[in-house]
Amino acid sequence: MATYDLLIVGAGVSGTALLHLAARYTDIGRIAILDKYAAPARVNSLASNNSQTLHCGDIETNYTLDKALKVQRAARMVLNYALQQPDVDHLVFKYPKMVLGVGEKECAQLRARFETFGPHYPNLRVLEKKDIARVEPTVAVRDGRLRTEEIVALGSTDEYTAVDYEALARSFVRNAQRAKGKDIEVLYNQQVRHIRVEQDRFLVETQDAGFQCRALVVAAGGHSLKLAHDLGYGLHYSCLPVAGSYYFTPQVLNGKVYTVQNDKLPFAAVHGDPDVQIPGKTRFGPTALMLPVLERYNFRTFPDWLRVFRFDHNVAAVLWDLMKVPDIRNYMAKNMLYEVPVLRKALFLEEVRKIVPDIRFRDLQFARKVGGIRPQLIDKIHRKLLLGEAKLDTGIGAIFNMTPSPGGTACLENAELDLRLVAKHLGATIDEEAFRRELLEGDHAHGSEDFTGRVLAGGDAA
Ligand SMILES: Cc1cc2nc3c(=O)[nH]c(=O)nc-3n(C[C@H](O)[C@H](O)[C@H](O)COP(=O)(O)OP(=O)(O)OC[C@H]3O[C@@H](n4cnc5c(N)ncnc54)[C@H](O)[C@@H]3O)c2cc1C
Repeated sequence: MATYDLLIVGAGVSGTALLHLAARYTDIGRIAILDKYAAPARVNSLASNNSQTLHCGDIETNYTLDKALKVQRAARMVLNYALQQPDVDHLVFKYPKMVLGVGEKECAQLRARFETFGPHYPNLRVLEKKDIARVEPTVAVRDGRLRTEEIVALGSTDEYTAVDYEALARSFVRNAQRAKGKDIEVLYNQQVRHIRVEQDRFLVETQDAGFQCRALVVAAGGHSLKLAHDLGYGLHYSCLPVAGSYYFTPQVLNGKVYTVQNDKLPFAAVHGDPDVQIPGKTRFGPTALMLPVLERYNFRTFPDWLRVFRFDHNVAAVLWDLMKVPDIRNYMAKNMLYEVPVLRKALFLEEVRKIVPDIRFRDLQFARKVGGIRPQLIDKIHRKLLLGEAKLDTGIGAIFNMTPSPGGTACLENAELDLRLVAKHLGATIDEEAFRRELLEGDHAHGSEDFTGRVLAGGDAA
């Protein structure tokens, strides 16, 4: 049976980020990653299954300042990594971005937000109607004239704002395979069925093979919880999968346009984004639809969901609390209708018109087989729906990650946390100096631009 120091299950952007960190910055010798599909990033990290946003926290009005600064650090790590790669142009993308306020209340909220967030985001600007018109003409104009209602936006025009998380995962794998003096194995078409603990080893069984490891990190999206439950951990969590669908239009936006979050709703408001893989289109979404599967468009994952849902009176209480709020109830109903052919276009048109007032019914096209699933956890003890990533550290060398949005942005930061736990468990050493220099400070070998768009030493000064 093959034996490893560290075995990672799941080759999405989370698992592959850890593979890269372990290969590059530690003295861990034997590392393997397993995935059930034939290539990395086929599930939520697939470019078409998420919004491709590098979340920095400035335009996400559902983030508090604390959360925003945390995500800003995580985003910087992704950017620092990408800017050191020869194929940087396939990994990260510069587009203008803004969050749009419509009407007196939202505009006042954005102006107040700028006072708090502005000092932490030097590129962030208040964009008045005419500024918006310069950056995103279709947003500021209705029937050929400037919109009459009050609008204001917070945004920036010269930052990296989008990531192809699928390409990023492939890049992590490639770099890990090049690590010198390491034994790195990347094993596809291996679906983990069962995990056992035997003395100080984990025994991981797939459909046709068995593996042993001293440390185990599972980054398998909603399936992480299923595998944790198999091992007897995280039984107080239930998983509520929230699917996101999108609509395509012809290219009506130059960049990313977010809208102000209704603070009663647990999921991000609809936004418009370029699609990094489909030039000439704008993608609007995501919607938020509860679905009883762990993988979108894969109904064979229904039994897996049933096993992790673990319905009981605590889960019922959380769902009841959500349904009690009229805004959430309406939102859920609306999101179900967004899936009904014909009707969905008419309903979703209203959402898009908040961003682009002149968009027409015939411009909208439901994006088939686009959009993944956010595995949101329900904490049964505290009777709460958890937003953001969740990590189960067993304390015996196995970690299980569940990663809804902004899990793409958080891939390296999350992997750093895992790396530290794994290194401690294995008694391994981390090259802290290289880690800090390359990922936290961004030692860009080619003098590329940094997070705020400045050119670093070594590059051609502008
Ligand atoms: C609609 C939507 C929009 C989003 N938008 C953004 C965004 O704009 N920005 C952002 O930062 N984040 C976003 N996210 C979140 C982001 O996409 C995810 O957090 C991220 O892709 C999770 O990566 P992962 O590697 O943890 O999981 P995944 O990419 O889902 O990878 C899990 C891997 O585990 C494998 N696997 C599962 N079970 C097994 C098993 N039993 N054996 C072996 N392998 C297994 C799967 O094949 C898969 O490759 C969005 C998510 C959704 C759904």
